[in-house]
Amino acid sequence: MKLEIRKYGDPVLRQKGARIEKVTPEIKKLIADMFDTMYEAHGVGLAAQQVGHALQLTVIDVRGIKDRPSTMQINGKPVDPETQMPLVLINPEVKLSGETFTGPEGCLSFPEIFADITRPGEVDLTATDEKGHQISFHAGGLLAKAVQHEFDHLQGILFIDRMGSETKREFKAELEALSDETKAALKKKK
Ligand code: ZN
Repeated sequence: MKLEIRKYGDPVLRQKGARIEKVTPEIKKLIADMFDTMYEAHGVGLAAQQVGHALQLTVIDVRGIKDRPSTMQINGKPVDPETQMPLVLINPEVKLSGETFTGPEGCLSFPEIFADITRPGEVDLTATDEKGHQISFHAGGLLAKAVQHEFDHLQGILFIDRMGSETKREFKAELEALSDETKAALKKKK
């Protein structure tokens, strides 16, 4: 079932996610709904906050993007990222490494806003999946970017927080308008 994607200005996007101690049927349903929502919106990642739940849970699938490659290693051995998708990451922990890399980034909570964001180029991740199995991998390229973007969401950090000051100035009016629109819509709902 497709869920409503929360937009910038919704306070849930600023909430740090609570740890998930047990994958209940409700969490399983939420994961399935998050995939439906992400695929429908043509996104490569979606965090629980973006559908209104402040939890340490995100889903990622980079298969839709062909022009920006991803790399992945498991236990030090290169694997084809396509064979590992989609990813369900519960209570993830990340360690950043590599040279920083600047590239375009967007977010489903910020429709039509795309900006260059600088991030470390590589990441080591450990998490558990929906079956309670441990996942750990090293990622580069688009996947490293997606992992960092989604991990940030789980801490209540948004990609605009990673923008350079000039870029942020450039988007200031647009961001304010989006936030005002979201807040007005939330008020109406109450
Ligand atoms: Zn996002």
